[in-house]
Amino acid sequence: MGNFASRDASSSVKEAQRVSATSCRPKDSRRKHWDSESIQDWLEMAELAGPRVYSCCHCWNHVCLHDDVISKAFHVNNFTKGRNGRAFLSSHAMNITTGAKEDRQFMTGLHTVTDIHCRGCREVLGWKYERAYEESQKYKEGKFIFEKDKIVQKNSREMAELVGPRVYSCRHCRNHVCLLDDIISKAFQGRNGHAFLSYHAMNVTTGAKEDRQLMTGLHMITNIHCRDCQEVLGWKYERAYEESQKYKEGRFIFEQAKIMQENW
Ligand SMILES: [Zn+2]
Ligand SMILES: [Zn+2]
Repeated sequence: MGNFASRDASSSVKEAQRVSATSCRPKDSRRKHWDSESIQDWLEMAELAGPRVYSCCHCWNHVCLHDDVISKAFHVNNFTKGRNGRAFLSSHAMNITTGAKEDRQFMTGLHTVTDIHCRGCREVLGWKYERAYEESQKYKEGKFIFEKDKIVQKNSREMAELVGPRVYSCRHCRNHVCLLDDIISKAFQGRNGHAFLSYHAMNVTTGAKEDRQLMTGLHMITNIHCRDCQEVLGWKYERAYEESQKYKEGRFIFEQAKIMQENW
């Protein structure tokens, strides 16, 4: 439901931009003035009309509506998994999957919970309360905890649509090779320092397949080259042999030292 509403909002924005591009009538300045004002209203309405959405911090999948948040006064204290910080209790979640049920002891008593995973990137975002054993905690049953560190409030993907996509270019020749929206993670390591994992690449060519031993196990990869200057920008994962690394198959690594932000 929320998704449909926000899609509607962004398509009206596109429609408004299209109208804006074709509504130049230099001989009738009053008419032109009226057009540009109504387009402005239209753009503002489109921004106001969309529901406020929380998205997965990794992949911007929409996972929760602002209106569904019941309380922001929750905490996550799981030091063994390195998870510690603020959390939200929400009445609903969307575009997520749940894991296996397990009993977990919280400060507020014993609960049966399932982890919730982003459907886009599989990241654990929090958990769902399946059952609360204490009478005073029953209100949480069927509700969701989102860890604040795992979600972002800004609807970044739609913001990007308003200003045009943000693009990474080959540092050598400024060929456009990757969109900011396609980046899954910036926490990767390349041959020369930091690297990005991206869903897609553009204007690149691939080399011969080879098996390479990486820190995370054996992978079959191909180098990716800038199509214009032939510079090696990173590699594509053709195959991951370890089950836990399969999510990288078909994805691209860009070395941060080889690409640059274009105009943003
Ligand atoms: Zn995600
Ligand atoms: Zn290049």
